[in-house]
Amino acid sequence: MSTKDYLEKDYYKVLGVPKDASTEEIKRAYRQLARKYHPDANKGDPQAEERFKEISEAYDVLADEKRRREYDEARALFGSGGFRVSSGGSGGGFQFDLGDLFGGVGGTGGLGDLFGGLFGTRPRTAPRRGADVETEVTLRFSEAVEGTTVPLRMTSEAPCAHCAGTGARAGSTPRVCPNCLGTGNVSRQQGGFAFSEPCRECRGRGLVVDDPCPVCRGSGRGKSTQVMHVRIPPGVQDGQRIRLRGKGAPGERGGPPGDLYVQVHVEPHPVFGRSGDNLTVTVPVTFPEAVLGAEIKVPTLSGAPVTVKLPPGTANGRTLRVRGKGAVRRDGTRGDLLVTVQVAVPQRLNEKARKALEEFAAATAGEDPRAGLLDLAKGE
Ligand SMILES: [Zn+2]
Ligand SMILES: [Zn+2]
Repeated sequence: MSTKDYLEKDYYKVLGVPKDASTEEIKRAYRQLARKYHPDANKGDPQAEERFKEISEAYDVLADEKRRREYDEARALFGSGGFRVSSGGSGGGFQFDLGDLFGGVGGTGGLGDLFGGLFGTRPRTAPRRGADVETEVTLRFSEAVEGTTVPLRMTSEAPCAHCAGTGARAGSTPRVCPNCLGTGNVSRQQGGFAFSEPCRECRGRGLVVDDPCPVCRGSGRGKSTQVMHVRIPPGVQDGQRIRLRGKGAPGERGGPPGDLYVQVHVEPHPVFGRSGDNLTVTVPVTFPEAVLGAEIKVPTLSGAPVTVKLPPGTANGRTLRVRGKGAVRRDGTRGDLLVTVQVAVPQRLNEKARKALEEFAAATAGEDPRAGLLDLAKGE
C-alpha cells in the first residue's frame, strides 16, 4: 500500500465506521459488508466485485494495528504544513485542492509530477518525493542565539471531530448508497461508449446520510490543528530561512518526504544586539571611570554578569571584547561580546560635585581639546 493510496482512499468511509472505531467494530462492519458484496453472492456484477476489493483492502489496513497507525499518520501528516485538504463539489468526500496546495511551495516538479497518477498522465509506479512546505516562526532574541524547540501550529481541514467525518448525527451511521453501491460512480451508456459519472444520489460520496451531524451539517468536514515540534539550531539570524530535512509532505510510493522551510523572525532584545557571531552591548560609564579606569560589571545574555577592566583614559565609544560570551556558532563554540563604552553625562549635580568639577576645570584650564580644530578647518 503506497502513501498515495493512503491519501486517496478513506478506508473508514469504505467500511462506514468512525475514525475512532475499535478493532471489534471494524471487524463487524467488514463481516457485514463482505457478506453483502461477496463475489459468490453477486455473480457477474463487476461493481459489487470492485466494492468487495475495496472493502477487503480497507479491512487489511484498519484491522492491523500497525498499518492502521501508519495510515492515520500518513493522512494526518499530509494535512499539516499549510496544506489544505478541501472538498470539491462532491458534498463530503475529500479531494485535494491542488491549486491551493502547492501555491508558492517551490521545490519538486509540481502538480503534474506529484499527482500525475490522479489524472492518468503518468504511470503510478515511480516513487516521488513529497512536496516542500514553507512556514514562519518568530523567536525571542535569546532563543535565536541559544537554539530552541518551537511548536509549529499547522491548521488544515480534517474530518469533523463531532461525527468523526461520517457526516451523520452521533449514534447513527451513514448508509452505503444503494444507487452506486458505495462506489460514488455510476456508468451510463451513450452512443456505444460507457461513461462513468458521479452518483447523483450520494453526490459521489458513496454514502447516504439520513440524519446529518448538526456541527458540519452532514459534510463530514472540520478543521484540525496539528502541532509539530521543530528544533531550531543555535545561531539563527533574523530573516534567515532554515531547512528541516524530511519534515515536509510525505513522499509517494516509497519516495522520501519533502523538506520544511522555516522563515525565521527574531524579536529585538532591549539590551543586546547581534553582529554575526558576536553579541553587542552598550554600557554607560561615568567620566571618572573612563578617565581613571575601573572594573565594571557587564551583563551577558546567558549567564552571570562578567567584570570588564576599563583601562585608564578610555575614550567614549570605545569597544572592548569579552571572548566567548557571544552567539553560538555552528561548531558549538561562541563568538565574543562586544562592549561599547558610553560616557554618561550627569544631568544634575549636587553642590559638592559641582565644586569638585569647577576645581577640575580650573586645574585643566590650559588644555583646549579644540586647539587645532579651528586652524585645520580654515586650512582647507
Ligand atoms: Zn451513490
Ligand atoms: Zn460532523
